[in-house]
Amino acid sequence: MGDDADAIKRKDLERAVRHLNMSDVDLRDLLLQLAARVIALTEELDRRGDGTLEKAVDALVPEALVQIRKADLGHRVQLASPEDKYTATPSTPPCDELMPICQARCCKAFTFALSTQDLDEGVIRFDYGRPYRIRKRDDGYCVHNDPTTHACTAHAHRPAVCRTYDCRTDKRVWADFENRVLAPEGTRNEPRDIDFAERARAVASALYIEDTAVKNGGND
Ligand code: SF4
Repeated sequence: MGDDADAIKRKDLERAVRHLNMSDVDLRDLLLQLAARVIALTEELDRRGDGTLEKAVDALVPEALVQIRKADLGHRVQLASPEDKYTATPSTPPCDELMPICQARCCKAFTFALSTQDLDEGVIRFDYGRPYRIRKRDDGYCVHNDPTTHACTAHAHRPAVCRTYDCRTDKRVWADFENRVLAPEGTRNEPRDIDFAERARAVASALYIEDTAVKNGGND
């Protein structure tokens, strides 16, 4: 990587500040909604006075928490597992053979969080606007992916997920791996939960608008 790739640009800092501001606004709004719900529930429990509703709510909280955390993954600060990536067992897809077909879709289609090990090494770049996910170029590829060859320019330091990921069984990449038929771009694994997915989409949409505004107005 050259100096230019290492430099923190004004638009990086602007995106980081906007991310913090938006997270703060979103968090406050969510807290107010939760506070309103707790007050309403408490009043209803008081009114009923038999404890049945309280038990029913207690039973539902764990699953609701799982769903909320799942929906929140889209914009919360993320860090991957601190396990040592150099001792991870690498996957062995035949990348040299597949690359002319897939054009390194794994380095374009997916985003993932770096680990503290990656951050401490300071080689793999993260997205300042979405800490600490892998940094992408405007074409969607990871910044460490060579635009011409699609090889990884940071191969020796690549994150754990890059070492262990195996596309061959991933239906988001291959519709039919044996016959080398790619899945349509944007293919997902599972349908998302309707209510929480709606909120996640709204946040993603707001972040996209912010990204566009910063890209159009930022100075390189
Ligand atoms: S670090 Fe390398 S292997 Fe991992 S996504 Fe980026 S280019 Fe691909």
